[in-house]
Amino acid sequence: MPIVAGGGLSGLSAAYYLSKKYSKSCLKLLLLEGSDRCGGWVKSDQRADFLFEAGPRTIRPKGIPGANTLNLIEDIGLSDAVLPIPSDHVAARNRMIYANNKLHLLPSNLMGALVTKPPFSKPLAMALLHDLKSKPKLNLDDDSMYNFVSRRFGKELADYAISPMLCGICAGDAKQISVKFLLSHLFDMEQKHGGVVKGLLKNAFNKSKRNANVLGSLAQKAKDEKWNIYSLKGGLEVLPKAIEKSLEANNIPMYTNHKIQEIAFYKNNQKVNIKVKDDYAFCSDHLYSCLPAYKLGELLDKSHPQLSGELKNIPFVNVAVINLQYDAENLLKQSAFGFLVPPMEKLPILGVIYDSCCFPNQKGTVITVMMGGKWFEEYFGDKPSESQMLEVAETQIRNILHIEDRPDNYKVNILEKCIPQYVVGHHDRVKRIRKYIQDKSLPLSLCGSSYDGVGVNDVILSALTAVESTNLT
Ligand SMILES: Cc1cc2nc3c(=O)[nH]c(=O)nc-3n(C[C@H](O)[C@H](O)[C@H](O)COP(=O)(O)OP(=O)(O)OC[C@H]3O[C@@H](n4cnc5c(N)ncnc54)[C@H](O)[C@@H]3O)c2cc1C
Repeated sequence: MPIVAGGGLSGLSAAYYLSKKYSKSCLKLLLLEGSDRCGGWVKSDQRADFLFEAGPRTIRPKGIPGANTLNLIEDIGLSDAVLPIPSDHVAARNRMIYANNKLHLLPSNLMGALVTKPPFSKPLAMALLHDLKSKPKLNLDDDSMYNFVSRRFGKELADYAISPMLCGICAGDAKQISVKFLLSHLFDMEQKHGGVVKGLLKNAFNKSKRNANVLGSLAQKAKDEKWNIYSLKGGLEVLPKAIEKSLEANNIPMYTNHKIQEIAFYKNNQKVNIKVKDDYAFCSDHLYSCLPAYKLGELLDKSHPQLSGELKNIPFVNVAVINLQYDAENLLKQSAFGFLVPPMEKLPILGVIYDSCCFPNQKGTVITVMMGGKWFEEYFGDKPSESQMLEVAETQIRNILHIEDRPDNYKVNILEKCIPQYVVGHHDRVKRIRKYIQDKSLPLSLCGSSYDGVGVNDVILSALTAVESTNLT
């Protein structure tokens, strides 16, 4: 009997794909979740006339991971719940950064890249010239995003585009995050061809065929209608809830309040013992771990200390998510997705999302302030109170957006160790972890945000990949 550990989005997806793959063979399957609910970081608070999201709020439809999520959404009957934001929507076009005490719209098309727009001192297109003129740094295994982008495209792009972008994606520091996190192919071009533009030109004559057969009808619709991002009516938590419902309909047991305490392998590593209480354990042929790496590391401390050490070395950061709702409409002077703050501005916020611009069918003005991440302890110490975090968020909103009103509703979410950081060397670490599992023939698969991508699409695809690459007979 395979066991799925963790009932976040990756765990629910793994259980879903397993139940689908083995639907004819009556394979028994079980999911163990430590808390009192499934869904993990996906948490939506739908009030009467507005929505507060504590975790993820939008999903990208593009690429194979994007299409895979849309296929899942279609499979479980959620197509009608999708709320797309097309690429000509104001929230798709207008993304801003806050620098030098001002909000600046980032260029969103080629024309915008050809003119000088503050805070940049030259047109963004000049970054390509910088790449052509700059010497490559060869024979590197990895590098930080910041180093790579400054070397190839100039320091301004690293400071004002890449650094705030990483605050938005993983609440991380571009000076520490690996270039392979997002720009692996561009890094390869530098290493192979001496520069990105040179690599692009060579590859233009050498186009590889992409697998285009993965688009279901919802994914095809997203492509045809040029969706930029999307959410779901009622919030993203509708997705894990619908997967849970589908698992229930297939009689897959999901045990909440079953926190795993220890994992050990026996019978020549063919079986797994999963202890949930001192006198209570489950025995399994294969474990799909959908737990954060550091938690899995703690559970393997006794049986596999080397593996445990590697898993625990993947760092995670805390993020505070402050949802604010004002009954007054039109408090935001510029319609946009929101803005990000470059770390060099030394402000205690990562960025602000304009929820009611993205999804306007809400009462008044709804925004979300993201704070902390890599800089959480530096700004807020070990255990900040909710009122302290609310005050910081309100002060920044007053200073930057000039909103003097107090919010009519708010919610403060302090999320501990919620986003893994793919720091320089991460990809080699994950390779070592997988090699260890393979060399010892451990019946263990790894899914979730700790290894191959931190977003919703990545963790769902990680579950599919793990299920497809194991054969349980
Ligand atoms: C603030 C925030 C904003 C985000 N925004 C976006 C976004 O807009 N778009 C996007 O694509 N992605 C976003 N993400 C990322 C996305 O939320 C994650 O990729 C995804 O939710 C991770 O799912 P998971 O199943 O891997 O992990 P988790 O959600 O961490 O699930 C792990 C589960 O394991 C359980 N567990 C832990 N320990 C044990 C134990 N010992 N025994 C049993 N169970 C245990 C936990 O209770 C939890 O339910 C965001 C993340 C955060 C935190």
